[in-house]
Amino acid sequence: MSSSAIILLIEDEAQIRRFVRAALEAENNCVVECGTLGQSMALFEESNPQLAILDLGLPDGEGIKFIRELRLRSEMPILVLSARSAEGEKIRALDAGADDYLTKPFSVGELLARVRALLRRNKLDNATLSNTHIFGDVEVDLAHRKVIRNGQLIHLTPIEYRLLCTLMASTGKVMTYRQLLRDIWGNSHIESNHYLRIYVSHLRQKLEHDPAQPKHFLTETGIGYRFQS
Ligand code: CA
Repeated sequence: MSSSAIILLIEDEAQIRRFVRAALEAENNCVVECGTLGQSMALFEESNPQLAILDLGLPDGEGIKFIRELRLRSEMPILVLSARSAEGEKIRALDAGADDYLTKPFSVGELLARVRALLRRNKLDNATLSNTHIFGDVEVDLAHRKVIRNGQLIHLTPIEYRLLCTLMASTGKVMTYRQLLRDIWGNSHIESNHYLRIYVSHLRQKLEHDPAQPKHFLTETGIGYRFQS
Protein backbone atom coordinates (compact mmCIF):
# COMPACT_ATOMS: atom_id res chain seq x y z
CA MET A 1 0.00 0.00 0.00
CA SER A 2 1.37 3.41 -0.82
CA SER A 3 0.59 6.83 0.59
CA SER A 4 1.73 9.23 -2.20
CA ALA A 5 1.84 12.64 -0.57
CA ILE A 6 4.14 15.63 -0.56
CA ILE A 7 6.15 15.23 2.64
CA LEU A 8 8.31 17.90 4.24
CA LEU A 9 11.37 16.41 5.94
CA ILE A 10 13.23 18.63 8.42
CA GLU A 11 16.37 16.87 9.64
CA ASP A 12 19.98 18.03 9.87
CA GLU A 13 21.71 14.64 9.67
CA ALA A 14 22.33 13.98 5.99
CA GLN A 15 22.49 10.24 6.45
CA ILE A 16 19.09 10.00 8.14
CA ARG A 17 17.63 12.34 5.55
CA ARG A 18 18.84 10.16 2.70
CA PHE A 19 17.52 7.03 4.33
CA VAL A 20 14.12 8.50 5.22
CA ARG A 21 13.78 10.05 1.75
CA ALA A 22 14.53 6.75 0.04
CA ALA A 23 11.96 4.93 2.18
CA LEU A 24 9.27 7.55 1.54
CA GLU A 25 9.98 7.68 -2.20
CA ALA A 26 9.70 3.92 -2.42
CA GLU A 27 6.06 4.45 -1.43
CA ASN A 28 5.55 7.09 -4.15
CA ASN A 29 5.77 10.10 -1.88
CA CYS A 30 7.37 13.30 -3.10
CA VAL A 31 9.88 14.55 -0.51
CA VAL A 32 11.05 18.13 0.06
CA GLU A 33 13.75 18.52 2.65
CA CYS A 34 15.83 20.97 4.65
CA GLY A 35 18.29 20.77 7.52
CA THR A 36 17.54 23.90 9.53
CA LEU A 37 14.72 25.54 11.42
CA GLY A 38 15.39 28.71 9.45
CA GLN A 39 14.50 27.10 6.12
CA SER A 40 11.59 25.04 7.39
CA MET A 41 8.72 27.53 7.36
CA ALA A 42 9.60 28.94 3.93
CA LEU A 43 9.79 25.42 2.54
CA PHE A 44 6.42 24.61 4.10
CA GLU A 45 4.85 27.61 2.39
CA GLU A 46 6.47 26.85 -0.95
CA SER A 47 5.72 23.18 -1.15
CA ASN A 48 2.26 22.86 0.38
CA PRO A 49 2.99 19.46 1.94
CA GLN A 50 0.50 17.02 3.44
CA LEU A 51 2.74 15.89 6.29
CA ALA A 52 5.95 16.96 8.06
CA ILE A 53 8.61 14.76 9.60
CA LEU A 54 10.58 16.82 12.06
CA ASP A 55 13.79 16.35 14.03
CA LEU A 56 13.76 18.21 17.36
CA GLY A 57 17.49 19.02 17.65
CA LEU A 58 18.31 21.31 14.74
CA PRO A 59 21.53 23.32 14.41
CA ASP A 60 19.81 26.71 14.61
CA GLY A 61 17.11 25.97 17.17
CA GLU A 62 14.52 23.63 18.60
CA GLY A 63 12.19 21.81 16.24
CA ILE A 64 9.40 22.53 18.70
CA LYS A 65 9.38 26.13 17.46
CA PHE A 66 8.36 24.86 14.03
CA ILE A 67 5.47 22.93 15.61
CA ARG A 68 4.23 25.99 17.52
CA GLU A 69 4.48 28.30 14.53
CA LEU A 70 2.87 25.82 12.16
CA ARG A 71 -0.07 25.19 14.47
CA LEU A 72 -1.03 28.87 14.27
CA ARG A 73 -1.93 28.33 10.63
CA SER A 74 -2.20 24.66 9.72
CA GLU A 75 -3.51 21.30 10.92
CA MET A 76 -1.01 19.39 8.78
CA PRO A 77 0.09 16.23 10.62
CA ILE A 78 3.57 16.33 12.18
CA LEU A 79 5.61 13.26 13.02
CA VAL A 80 8.54 13.99 15.32
CA LEU A 81 11.76 12.02 14.98
CA SER A 82 14.12 12.44 17.84
CA ALA A 83 17.04 10.87 19.62
CA ARG A 84 15.54 12.19 22.84
CA SER A 85 13.61 9.41 24.45
CA ALA A 86 12.72 11.17 27.71
CA GLU A 87 9.03 11.11 28.43
CA GLY A 88 9.04 14.86 29.15
CA GLU A 89 10.33 15.62 25.64
CA LYS A 90 7.59 13.59 24.04
CA ILE A 91 4.93 15.26 26.11
CA ARG A 92 6.29 18.69 25.25
CA ALA A 93 6.27 17.96 21.51
CA LEU A 94 2.79 16.41 21.57
CA ASP A 95 1.42 19.26 23.68
CA ALA A 96 2.86 21.78 21.22
CA GLY A 97 0.81 20.11 18.48
CA ALA A 98 2.82 17.17 17.10
CA ASP A 99 0.67 14.19 16.11
CA ASP A 100 3.12 11.37 16.68
CA TYR A 101 6.61 10.71 17.98
CA LEU A 102 9.24 8.20 16.93
CA THR A 103 12.47 7.71 18.88
CA LYS A 104 15.75 7.18 17.01
CA PRO A 105 16.89 4.62 16.08
CA PHE A 106 13.68 3.50 14.42
CA SER A 107 12.75 0.90 11.83
CA VAL A 108 11.73 1.90 8.31
CA GLY A 109 8.66 -0.29 8.54
CA GLU A 110 7.43 1.51 11.62
CA LEU A 111 8.15 4.95 10.19
CA LEU A 112 6.20 4.17 7.02
CA ALA A 113 3.28 2.66 8.93
CA ARG A 114 3.02 5.80 11.06
CA VAL A 115 3.23 8.05 8.01
CA ARG A 116 0.44 6.10 6.34
CA ALA A 117 -1.70 6.26 9.47
CA LEU A 118 -1.28 10.04 9.76
CA LEU A 119 -2.05 10.60 6.09
CA ARG A 120 -5.07 8.34 6.26
CA ARG A 121 -6.45 10.20 9.22
CA ASN A 122 -5.86 13.50 7.50
CA LYS A 123 -7.48 12.35 4.29
CA LEU A 124 -10.64 11.43 6.16
CA ASP A 125 -10.69 14.95 7.55
CA ASN A 126 -10.00 16.44 4.17
CA ALA A 127 -11.76 14.37 1.57
CA THR A 128 -11.22 16.90 -1.18
CA LEU A 129 -7.42 16.64 -1.02
CA SER A 130 -6.15 16.23 -4.55
CA ASN A 131 -3.13 14.21 -5.52
CA THR A 132 -3.32 15.24 -9.14
CA HIS A 133 -1.41 18.20 -10.56
CA ILE A 134 -2.30 19.59 -13.94
CA PHE A 135 -0.28 21.89 -16.19
CA GLY A 136 -0.67 22.45 -19.92
CA ASP A 137 -1.87 19.16 -21.39
CA VAL A 138 -0.10 17.15 -18.68
CA GLU A 139 -1.63 15.44 -15.68
CA VAL A 140 0.60 14.16 -12.89
CA ASP A 141 -1.09 11.57 -10.69
CA LEU A 142 1.05 11.37 -7.56
CA ALA A 143 -1.02 8.54 -6.08
CA HIS A 144 -0.19 6.22 -8.96
CA ARG A 145 3.10 7.85 -9.95
CA LYS A 146 1.71 8.34 -13.43
CA VAL A 147 2.28 11.15 -15.89
CA ILE A 148 -0.29 11.46 -18.63
CA ARG A 149 -0.17 13.80 -21.57
CA ASN A 150 -3.11 14.15 -23.92
CA GLY A 151 -4.39 10.85 -22.62
CA GLN A 152 -1.06 9.10 -23.29
CA LEU A 153 1.01 7.62 -20.50
CA ILE A 154 4.48 9.22 -20.51
CA HIS A 155 7.42 7.25 -19.22
CA LEU A 156 9.75 9.19 -16.91
CA THR A 157 12.92 7.75 -15.39
CA PRO A 158 13.20 7.89 -11.57
CA ILE A 159 15.49 10.95 -11.77
CA GLU A 160 13.17 12.73 -14.21
CA TYR A 161 10.20 12.01 -11.97
CA ARG A 162 12.03 13.25 -8.89
CA LEU A 163 13.08 16.43 -10.68
CA LEU A 164 9.50 16.99 -11.82
CA CYS A 165 8.14 16.52 -8.27
CA THR A 166 10.81 18.78 -6.79
CA LEU A 167 10.12 21.56 -9.29
CA MET A 168 6.34 21.19 -8.92
CA ALA A 169 6.61 21.36 -5.14
CA SER A 170 8.03 24.89 -5.56
CA THR A 171 5.73 26.07 -8.35
CA GLY A 172 6.38 29.68 -9.29
CA LYS A 173 9.63 29.90 -7.28
CA VAL A 174 13.15 29.90 -8.61
CA MET A 175 15.14 26.88 -7.51
CA THR A 176 18.90 27.34 -7.71
CA TYR A 177 21.17 24.80 -9.41
CA ARG A 178 22.61 24.02 -6.01
CA GLN A 179 19.23 23.35 -4.36
CA LEU A 180 18.10 21.13 -7.20
CA LEU A 181 21.34 19.17 -7.40
CA ARG A 182 21.34 18.64 -3.66
CA ASP A 183 17.69 17.56 -3.59
CA ILE A 184 18.02 15.22 -6.53
CA TRP A 185 21.51 13.79 -6.42
CA GLY A 186 22.70 14.68 -2.91
CA ASN A 187 25.59 16.80 -1.68
CA SER A 188 28.23 15.01 -3.75
CA HIS A 189 26.99 16.54 -7.02
CA ILE A 190 26.36 20.15 -6.13
CA GLU A 191 28.78 21.36 -8.80
CA SER A 192 27.38 19.25 -11.63
CA ASN A 193 25.10 21.76 -13.36
CA HIS A 194 25.30 19.86 -16.64
CA TYR A 195 23.27 16.99 -15.09
CA LEU A 196 20.44 19.40 -14.57
CA ARG A 197 20.60 20.79 -18.09
CA ILE A 198 20.28 17.27 -19.45
CA TYR A 199 17.38 16.24 -17.25
CA VAL A 200 15.48 19.50 -17.63
CA SER A 201 15.81 19.09 -21.38
CA HIS A 202 14.37 15.55 -21.07
CA LEU A 203 11.37 16.91 -19.18
CA ARG A 204 10.86 19.59 -21.83
CA GLN A 205 11.06 17.03 -24.62
CA LYS A 206 8.51 14.82 -22.92
CA LEU A 207 6.14 17.37 -21.41
CA GLU A 208 6.37 20.72 -23.22
CA HIS A 209 4.32 21.57 -26.28
CA ASP A 210 7.37 23.28 -27.81
CA PRO A 211 10.55 22.16 -26.01
CA ALA A 212 12.50 25.03 -27.61
CA GLN A 213 10.10 27.58 -26.12
CA PRO A 214 9.20 26.11 -22.77
CA LYS A 215 6.21 27.43 -20.85
CA HIS A 216 6.54 25.28 -17.72
CA PHE A 217 10.20 24.39 -17.20
CA LEU A 218 11.75 27.82 -17.31
CA THR A 219 15.44 28.69 -17.23
CA GLU A 220 16.51 31.43 -14.85
CA THR A 221 19.79 32.28 -16.53
CA GLY A 222 22.77 31.90 -14.24
CA ILE A 223 20.57 30.96 -11.26
CA GLY A 224 18.54 27.82 -11.86
CA TYR A 225 15.06 26.77 -12.96
CA ARG A 226 11.49 27.68 -12.20
CA PHE A 227 8.39 25.59 -12.75
CA GLN A 228 5.25 27.37 -13.86
CA SER A 229 1.93 25.53 -14.04
CA1 CA B 1 19.40 16.60 14.80
